[in-house]
Amino acid sequence: MGFLDSVPLPRSAYLHIPFCHRRCFYCDFAVVPLGDKASGANGPGSTAIKSYLNLLHREIAVVPDGPPLATVYIGGGTPSLLAPAQISSLLKHLENRFGFQDGVEITLEIDPASFSLEALNGFVEAGATRLSLGGQSFDDEILERLGRRHCRADLLEACQWLNDFYRSGWISTWSLDLIQGAPGQTLHFWEKELNQAINTYAPHLAIYDLSIEPGTVFAWRQRLGELELLDDDLAADIMRCTSSVLGSKGFSRYEISNYALPGHTSRHNRVYWSGSGWWGFGQGATSAPWGQRFSRPRTREGYRTWIEEQEMHGLHPSLEVLTASPMGFDDQLIVGLRRREGIDFFAMARRWGWDEEKCEIYITSFCKFMKDLFEQGCLKREGSRFKLSEPKGMELSNQTLIQMLLWWDSLPQDAVAPPSHVKLRRKDCDLGLLVD
Ligand code: SF4
Repeated sequence: MGFLDSVPLPRSAYLHIPFCHRRCFYCDFAVVPLGDKASGANGPGSTAIKSYLNLLHREIAVVPDGPPLATVYIGGGTPSLLAPAQISSLLKHLENRFGFQDGVEITLEIDPASFSLEALNGFVEAGATRLSLGGQSFDDEILERLGRRHCRADLLEACQWLNDFYRSGWISTWSLDLIQGAPGQTLHFWEKELNQAINTYAPHLAIYDLSIEPGTVFAWRQRLGELELLDDDLAADIMRCTSSVLGSKGFSRYEISNYALPGHTSRHNRVYWSGSGWWGFGQGATSAPWGQRFSRPRTREGYRTWIEEQEMHGLHPSLEVLTASPMGFDDQLIVGLRRREGIDFFAMARRWGWDEEKCEIYITSFCKFMKDLFEQGCLKREGSRFKLSEPKGMELSNQTLIQMLLWWDSLPQDAVAPPSHVKLRRKDCDLGLLVD
């Protein structure tokens, strides 16, 4: 096996747009709130946006060559704060740099009430083929409790536009995000939310659990005892309800939080979970073009300084094929297990450099370590493949993933050390082969 067989080439790119109108009460992302009136072209906040886009273009210009891209994801933050011309310019730059494969999937995250119908047309003309709408809830009271800027009417209007675009063939698909487990939700209420989502005809739904992150308004309210979170039983009932209602409507749960009608899975997200490489650009963005993950600074000044270093002193080792480490085996297991199809443990272990004997010893030790989770029906084995069960294993995924990390930490050093053969192959590899 040659190097090109062992390390998938990066055919995906993520661009981070860190601006939002305001910070939602549960959000701890690397975002910069610019106020409710901000807009990319010439409104309030446009100077900050333009200066950031300048940095983003500088970062795109500095990375090494790679093969044409199959997927691009512009996420945030609120990318729909940008003007269509700004999105177009970023996409043109990426295309000039790497090229786009035929049928490239270009996802743009959009936030209800942050764009007009005219802007939506502009985003699609700029090249977006898939739009991902951050709806979160159809209920005005819940939206207010979450600190969102949009209301139910904004969301319904945006869904209608997206459905029209999809039916007319102007975009290939679209997705709607909802948050389950928000304060004040009841089972009956959540079922109503799901049915409203289904009635929008969104072919892809991303359903995220509310989690309380340090430094957020919700964390602060929780400390003051002012946040009434759902009890564990209700949260579990809500999760089960999601899986059963969406399953009955033909949605397949292809990842812990993602449901799609046939033909509508996100190709870009599958890249993250398959262990393939991707480029990442922008403040706080994570990349892993050759396996090794690297996260950029989360502040503007930190990001600017980091770009200047790349320009003046050479690229970060993770961005160069000859110097990047492989993705950790534990990371591969964790991201792989999130998918419906789970992981082919034996194939992954052999790629990591384990021989037959090590595979036998360590995979047996894994099965022993995870015994309780197998017995509880959270984890399943089908030959060399291991996967979370649906719905129970998917619901209790954190428990399984933590136990898996504990197992990894219990292994001897010679099992967990990165495979030396990858480094050796890298020394011999012909960089000319990397552009196909
Ligand atoms: S719009 Fe999204 S990224 Fe921005 S603050 Fe709200 S949750 Fe965070």
